[in-house]
Amino acid sequence: MAANNRQVILAEKPQGKLTLANFQFAETEMPVPAEGEVLVKALYVSLDAANRAWMQGVTYRSALETGAVMAGGSLAEVVESRAEHLAPGDLVFAETGWQAYAAVPGKHLAKLPRVEPLTHLLSVYGVTGLTAYFGLLNVGQPKPGETVVVSAAAGAVGSLVGQIARIKGCRVIGIAGGAAKCGWIKDELGFDEAVDYKAGDVRRQLRGLCPNGVDVYFDNVGGDVFEAALFNMANHGRIVCCGAVSQYDDVPPAHGPRGVPGLIVTKRLRVEGFVVMDFYAGRDAALAELRGWVEAGKLKVQEDVIDGLENLPAALIGLLAGENRGKRMVRVG
Ligand code: NAP
Repeated sequence: MAANNRQVILAEKPQGKLTLANFQFAETEMPVPAEGEVLVKALYVSLDAANRAWMQGVTYRSALETGAVMAGGSLAEVVESRAEHLAPGDLVFAETGWQAYAAVPGKHLAKLPRVEPLTHLLSVYGVTGLTAYFGLLNVGQPKPGETVVVSAAAGAVGSLVGQIARIKGCRVIGIAGGAAKCGWIKDELGFDEAVDYKAGDVRRQLRGLCPNGVDVYFDNVGGDVFEAALFNMANHGRIVCCGAVSQYDDVPPAHGPRGVPGLIVTKRLRVEGFVVMDFYAGRDAALAELRGWVEAGKLKVQEDVIDGLENLPAALIGLLAGENRGKRMVRVG
């Protein structure tokens, strides 16, 4: 008999905060790839704040269903291929879900280069890096000398946004939870200033740090922090709506922002959401530039790797609680 496949199932959708009880574990038979599919082995499962948002309903993808394998993407290795362009041993980024093996359509999979370390394919050279790059540069369009503020600044996307803004000659202020994270983004990542949103009035702190206003606010969190930034925007500022992690684990969302749309009008702001896939036509050029910055030591990549498929639920709960610095992922294979 074939070896078993280990899976994490979404047993019940959370009514409030996500807990371990929302998940259960299963063992099933190994999947068998159909024509055009590949059997892949998950090496590292990507942990994304959006994993929790998908449980709330339709987003840019269909809503998750209870009883199904928890959705998520992985850096995976092809084990068996029934797709012409892929062979065993190839690396791909695939929608495997939270399981050790998956049979997935080969059509949209591209062979990835074997970089060192491999984990960079999920962080700076994956969705995370491209989200930071396109969101800041294509949507935010910062100019040298401008003030850029980013929230969830010690997280996967935010830590890269702030550093890219610095590379582009901007003054950068990060908003993060706790003194340790705030110290880290200043001392290690080179942010100019940091605001601890857990330690007081963000709106007032931003006003003190940005007397001429914020030119670009890269919003990863929504809610009260969004509101604090909104009140501090400079005229003709740009707000990049990347995500709203403060709202994902809180049903229904409990907080702001107030000031919408009045301030957007009077300050002539541009508020624009985006999904990283919108910009994939420019992916190769973006990856080349990201790689140049990493190799030149201008862009530091922080990863937070946890071992074991059985730790996926706790790893997501911890991400939403702010345990992570940089890109969190779980090593499976
Ligand atoms: P992450 O930033 O690595 O982790 C989430 C962080 O959010 C936590 O570490 C925590 O840090 C912070 N946080 C949690 N609750 C918060 C709250 N109530 N208020 C303020 N901060 C809070 O996660 P990520 O995967 O990189 O995602 C960052 C954002 O990018 C998310 O909103 C995600 O949905 C979005 N995203 C968007 C796209 C796109 O295409 N638009 C693509 C990828 C990701 P603290 O300790 O600082 O609280």
